[in-house]
Amino acid sequence: MKKLALHWKILIGMLLGVVFGLIMAQVSWGGDFVKDWIKPFGRIFIKSLKLIAMPLILASLIKGVSDLKDISKLSLMGGRTIGMYIITTVIAVSIGLLLVNSIKPGNSISESTRNELVNNYVDKAEKYKTQAELQKANGPLKALEDLVPSNIVAAAGNNKNMLQVIFFAIFFGIGLILIPEKKSKPVKAFFDGFNEVILKMIDLIMLAAPYGVFALLAALVVESPSLDLFQALAWYAITVIIGLFLLLVFYNLIVLFLARKKPSFFIKGIAPAQLLAFSTSSSAATLPVTMERVTEHLGVEEEVSSFVLPIGATVNMDGTSLYQAVAAVFIAQAFGMHLGLSAQLGIIMTATLASIGSAAVPGAGMVMLIIVLAQAGIPEAGLALIFAIDRPLDMLRTIANVTGDATVSMVVAKSLGKLGDPKVKNWDDNYPGK
Ligand code: ASP
Repeated sequence: MKKLALHWKILIGMLLGVVFGLIMAQVSWGGDFVKDWIKPFGRIFIKSLKLIAMPLILASLIKGVSDLKDISKLSLMGGRTIGMYIITTVIAVSIGLLLVNSIKPGNSISESTRNELVNNYVDKAEKYKTQAELQKANGPLKALEDLVPSNIVAAAGNNKNMLQVIFFAIFFGIGLILIPEKKSKPVKAFFDGFNEVILKMIDLIMLAAPYGVFALLAALVVESPSLDLFQALAWYAITVIIGLFLLLVFYNLIVLFLARKKPSFFIKGIAPAQLLAFSTSSSAATLPVTMERVTEHLGVEEEVSSFVLPIGATVNMDGTSLYQAVAAVFIAQAFGMHLGLSAQLGIIMTATLASIGSAAVPGAGMVMLIIVLAQAGIPEAGLALIFAIDRPLDMLRTIANVTGDATVSMVVAKSLGKLGDPKVKNWDDNYPGK
């Protein structure tokens, strides 16, 4: 496997994991064997990626912001980033709505299948509802309030607080710009070196990626529910998949026309991050690799990627918002409800906001879907309808989430004259052991 490019190795690891899982599902002891002896390696892999996320954000953002040397540049970049994130999310939701209204996947669900699905998953749906209720109980400015940590050590102690750490890092970077150069130089040099170490650690972790994804997918296959349920939801799944595919096409067009880079270049550069997004279902866990690929392989200067990507991983989830729109209308259709124009416009609004509020972890999109359903007056019990197939769709929408962030980072970099040639020309030159 040594001479193969990284993305091929990951892909082979994924395929072998699925095949191994399928074989193991046939033998009586297979399921337990995979859970006890294979899955832990997948979890170790994800944990090592998450381990890197906090120090990476801190070091690279502080370095990135202080490299800007001037605060007006920061606000320009911030404005463009947020603007692009909102536009791409609204487009994603609109693609989802257009598709689900034309394909009408919900109409193909018979009443008996609907009841069977609702009964099977009603307990799990309850759990998600309680989580969503907690979120809903918060006031409108809670998200803003939560942005500011009261203690940076405590904030950095939990990966859920990524936005708080981002806030601190930007604030610290601004402070660093404003002090005399003589004083700031050693601090910057420290974070520079720190950042290099973290990037090298990511390279090392990626050496284990093919084995990590093998373990993750094998475990997923032995734990997945029966295929019959998948079939009933086939049209719904197809609608989401077509939508996500169109979204990826849209990103490539943006890269081509706005960032002026060839789609083949973009896909090659970002592929390992996409494969990892698929295997881990978490944009947060994928973030270190997304940053490394975008900076080293796509030519985005670090001061842009270190700002745009961590924010994107937490607030920009185009795949999730597309899925929320499709799922909401699908459930309404399955329950025989008609949604008028204003209800659909409401879905655009709430799905956009809900995807911003979704955490970058597996299944988060589903929790926030409840808020979209409640706002549009769609029965929340419908959540149980789509449970069976949520994990594979989660894996796919996470690819879109990560690709969307990478796309925006290229466009923002281009607009600021900070999109250059990739540092690493050859495919995986910077991976040791080659
Ligand atoms: N798993 C997704 C992510 O991390 C979020 C979701 O849609 O559930 O990007």
